[in-house]
Amino acid sequence: MKDKLNLIGYSLVFLGVVLFILKSTESISIYYIDYITITIGIGIVLVGGLIYGKEKHLLCRIGWHRFEHVGRDAEVKFAFIYKCNRCGRTKRVVRSTGGVG
Ligand SMILES: [Zn+2]
Repeated sequence: MKDKLNLIGYSLVFLGVVLFILKSTESISIYYIDYITITIGIGIVLVGGLIYGKEKHLLCRIGWHRFEHVGRDAEVKFAFIYKCNRCGRTKRVVRSTGGVG
């Protein structure tokens, strides 16, 4: 259900952005439909996150984690471990060293 809400929400945001671009390039009058569409889309995503999210912190439920660098991955070189200091969720970020090849 949450995935469905996210899909609808992000689709509306995308549609709003498309309308916004159309409005600025084609000079069509759609008033504030683009802004309204984006706002509703974001609203649906936020509400979906608040209702169905499992994270304890409200900001974490809408995907706004507060990641902090906690260490390196033991298996993958150049992979850094980040941990959210609100809900404890961890993520792994692989960083290239910048060299090509
Ligand atoms: Zn979090």
